[in-house]
Amino acid sequence: MDAEIIGVGSELLLGQISNTDAQYISQKLSQLGINVFYHTVVGDNSKRLKKALEIAVDRVDIIITTGGLGPTMDDITKETIAEFLGIPLELHQPSVDRIENYFAKRGRTISQNNYKQAYFPKGSIILSNNHGTAPGAILEYNNKIFIILPGPPRELQPMFEEHVIPYLENRSSEKIVSRVLKIYGIGESDMEEKIKDLLIDQSNPTIAPLAGVSELSIRLTAKTSRNEDPFKLIQPIERKIRERLGDVVYGVDDDTLESVVVNLLIESGKTIATAESCTGGLIAERITSIPGASKVFLQGIVSYSNQSKIEILKVSKDTIAKYGAVSRETAEEMVKGIIKTSGADIGIAVTGIAGPGGGTKDKPVGLVYIAVADNKGFLTVNRYNLLGDRKRVQQSSASIALDSIRRALLNKKID
Ligand code: ATP
Ligand code: MG
Repeated sequence: MDAEIIGVGSELLLGQISNTDAQYISQKLSQLGINVFYHTVVGDNSKRLKKALEIAVDRVDIIITTGGLGPTMDDITKETIAEFLGIPLELHQPSVDRIENYFAKRGRTISQNNYKQAYFPKGSIILSNNHGTAPGAILEYNNKIFIILPGPPRELQPMFEEHVIPYLENRSSEKIVSRVLKIYGIGESDMEEKIKDLLIDQSNPTIAPLAGVSELSIRLTAKTSRNEDPFKLIQPIERKIRERLGDVVYGVDDDTLESVVVNLLIESGKTIATAESCTGGLIAERITSIPGASKVFLQGIVSYSNQSKIEILKVSKDTIAKYGAVSRETAEEMVKGIIKTSGADIGIAVTGIAGPGGGTKDKPVGLVYIAVADNKGFLTVNRYNLLGDRKRVQQSSASIALDSIRRALLNKKID
């Protein structure tokens, strides 16, 4: 089945807002195996919307509109679709009740206009809106499917998840699932080289590598008939890819480096503390963004000045004088210091030059030392020359630090 998304709203045409609804819907439909062939945008104008509908019914099976379901005069989507199809609008009593309830709960008075939102083209399936007042609708007519959705993303997205996806899955004779392998610590071309033959031979599942800013991922998408399990097709290919790539595959789907690290720490019953200079607390921030971090994260110190490194982390004055604050030696003493002061099992320390100033010939911008240690004698300090602006150097340093902990835990260097 092929689809077209029609965004209704003059704001979109004026460039006041971006068409993120179309982006969201397209992503979701591709996961369902539905081809989105066109994105169209029209203003709040009945004549032009009708023209767009005329074109759409000629070229796709599913027409999805976004926006224009509000209570005001310029919200014309449902009315225009009804007119276009020659179907009358009908009052939907449960929606009247919901809207009245919504206003009563908020202590707001309802205006006559609001009842406009309870009228739908006759024969519609009504999609309740739990995050606003405008319900959506699905209308099947002449072998075409019209899906009518509200504009605000915080209303549209839950409605799509709760109603539209199950509806479309039910209509389809196929089942499609995707699984994303998350990858860190290998370059794009290196990765492709290692799985080249699989990429060339791919059919079902399809194998789609994707390069992000500092991470890579591979999306595996399999299709089967409704009574089979598409994951069964994904498993053998996933196994092959993991064999080829090894431990650079750090997770799947919604996993992040920090979520994987926190879960590994929870599993192994270890605690951690961070001593950060050039990353300014970014590693601590990423770890603490994960629910459950309080079980494993004891302390994060942003130790920016030499004085603080000496006083709080007990880095020796001589070390800083002799090797500098950005050095292997300082990183080592920082990590030992944070383990001691926090009492954590594992410590991580970062010191570097994020730029744009502060670089020298010997110590250029992007030079970063990352130390990981535990309280039983494991210690590694690595030197990196990172590229990019200040933000990028900080982000990369934090990612490398998290990945270093992950590898140390995974490979039982720390246990
Ligand atoms: P309302 O009941 O709020 O009037 P509506 O369904 O009538 O909702 P619109 O009036 O078209 O929708 O748009 C309301 C708001 O929703 C816009 O101001 C904008 O913030 C957001 N919005 C509308 N269309 C889109 C879109 N295509 N992508 C992202 N956001 C959108
Ligand atoms: Mg509106």
